Amino acid sequence: MTLPQLTEVVKGCGEPLFRAKQVFGWLQKGVHSFEEMGNVSKTLKEKLKENYYVSNVSIEKRLDSSVDDTVKYLYRLSDGEYIESVVMKYKHGYSICISTQVGCRMGCGFCASTIGGLCRNLTGGEMLSQITEAQNDLNIRISNVVLMGMGEPLDNYENVMRFLSLVSEEDGLHIGMRHISLSTCGVVDKMKLLEKEKLQITLSVSLHAPNDEIRSQIMPVNRKWGVVELLEACKSYIKTTSRRISFEYAMIYGINDSDACASELSKRLKGMLCHVNLIPANDVHDQYTKSNVTQIHRFQYILENNGINVTVRRTLGSDINASCGQLRAEK
Ligand code: SAH
Repeated sequence: MTLPQLTEVVKGCGEPLFRAKQVFGWLQKGVHSFEEMGNVSKTLKEKLKENYYVSNVSIEKRLDSSVDDTVKYLYRLSDGEYIESVVMKYKHGYSICISTQVGCRMGCGFCASTIGGLCRNLTGGEMLSQITEAQNDLNIRISNVVLMGMGEPLDNYENVMRFLSLVSEEDGLHIGMRHISLSTCGVVDKMKLLEKEKLQITLSVSLHAPNDEIRSQIMPVNRKWGVVELLEACKSYIKTTSRRISFEYAMIYGINDSDACASELSKRLKGMLCHVNLIPANDVHDQYTKSNVTQIHRFQYILENNGINVTVRRTLGSDINASCGQLRAEK
């Protein structure tokens, strides 16, 4: 619940309104029960217990990378489902990659999160709790959040919006919109809604191919909204928000990594306020493997030569199964 929502609840319980801030503060600290809310009156705790529950995630398994400081969590939800989050250490601080759904229904061929389909949406609280749980466990403060774990954030629009409001709340974690990235596979109708919210978040778009022929083969969502329509939506988004868009491009051997693909992509993106992240694809299915390093650099070179901003994403936590959804699938 947001602070205004909690305030209504506290009012309904006939309790003084300052209690709402107290309860909100405890929830943002990541407590697992009303009992732990030290300074909240006993009567209010009893009343809350009758009608509400605290739906925080708990750590089922933690994997620490031995090659860098990456930590991966398998979290258990209150109904017994599992999700994953990853904490990464950068020069500028800690960043967390969180999940927005249990599973995913987008069906991208190279992605582990979608293997069992969609199980359910996460609530805003369950998204927030992935951050508080990791912070408490590692005794750190997380300053950046990316919605790039399991699930399609724009397929769970309302709860994601609730999460964005919770996480940026001054009396809570207070993580500003400029420190948050949201990644989508290209759910164009929801991108148009998001555009109207005029948020200062970074929008990442998982493009992965320069044309419909290849994109529809690996990403079923492209059969509904093709590359041209998607890029039009991106241009409109940039115009409205003045924010640069990041394009994710997983380099898959023999599928989308040819020189011709790089040239075609350059033409499509020319003149756009954007940045391309080339990601060596993680092996998930036998039919898709990562491109070789030489080809990734050729691809980068062609984009750069055409004036497109591009970086090759560093691989973090390579020894702890970097690709999302694999731990859950095993479980
Ligand atoms: N549903 C959202 C966010 C989750 S996926 C989206 O599609 O953007 C986060 C990123 O990881 C996406 O860019 C996704 O395409 C990418 N990804 C999924 N499987 C991958 C793999 N095997 N190798 C590299 N990147 C992958």
